[in-house]
Formats: sequence, C-alpha cells, structure tokens
Amino acid sequence: MSHLHTGSCLCGAVKFELEGEFKKFFLCHCSRCRKTSGTAHCANLFAPGATLTWLSGEDRLRFYRLENTNFARTFCSVCGSNVPTDAKTRGLVVVPAGCLDTEVDITPQAHIFMDSRANWDEKLNEITCFDQLPPVGLFYKAVKRLAASNKVLSSFAKHKRIRR
Ligand SMILES: [Zn+2]
Ligand SMILES: [Zn+2]
Repeated sequence: MSHLHTGSCLCGAVKFELEGEFKKFFLCHCSRCRKTSGTAHCANLFAPGATLTWLSGEDRLRFYRLENTNFARTFCSVCGSNVPTDAKTRGLVVVPAGCLDTEVDITPQAHIFMDSRANWDEKLNEITCFDQLPPVGLFYKAVKRLAASNKVLSSFAKHKRIRR
C-alpha cells in the first residue's frame, strides 16, 4: 500500500511530497547525527522505493556528503532545516521525521549507536515534563525535585532545606 506524505522546511521555501511507505524508523545517536542535528539524535524514516517530488524551493536545496562515507544530508540553504535525501544508489529515501507535515504512521523501532551517545543522554524519560515553557518558579521546583531524587544537594535544594 502506497501513502502520500508531505513536508516542508522551517522557513517554508522548500516543500515536498513523498509517495511510498515508511518501513524503518530509527533514532540514531551517532556522533555524525548529533553534529548535524545539534541534539541527542536524529529521527530518520526509511522509505525504500519511494518517489520524492519537490513542490517548491528545489533551487534552495543544498546537499552534503561526508567524505568517504554514505552519510549525507539535504537541507534548505535559507533556514538550514534537514529535508529528505533521495539515496538513489541505495534505492531509498531517508526522511528526517521532524520535517513532515503529515502524520507518521509508524513509531520508532529502535535507538541505534547508543555506544556513541552524549554523556547527558541518560534516562531522559525520567525528567520532569512541561506541556509548554514553564514559569520560572515551576522550573526551579522541578530542578529541586530532581536533585532530591538523585540525592544530590544542589546549592538550590540545600538553601531551601536550611530554611525549612
Ligand atoms: Zn527553509
Ligand atoms: Zn547517526
């Protein structure tokens, strides 16, 4: 079954359509993905045999391949957003999940290259979550709670404890 997906970059110059099916979905923590994303991992969807059509902004696209590797990125030269890479020699399209405007119909299947993860990339699902940017007071309460649960006396928590 074929699906039609659409996506775009942050500035909106680049828009695309992808016809095909996502077969794999990996969160890659390797050092290359950390560099290119600026964060803990890339979230890449793999669509073998899919057809990628640029609807706008094709002239804004830039392509980068790390020398002597298969590691490649296609990105908008205006805003820097990663967009799909048509890996024709490998017969698949690699889609950074964040650039899609349509729903992703599969969930991530694995974290890969965990050996290379950043030193702060540990138990991230255990830290406090806020639906939006929290008010400063709430944020410090969360920091204090985390410090207490880790049995680490941050200067903030220590200060509060003495006052109690
Ligand atoms: Zn852009
Ligand atoms: Zn990677």
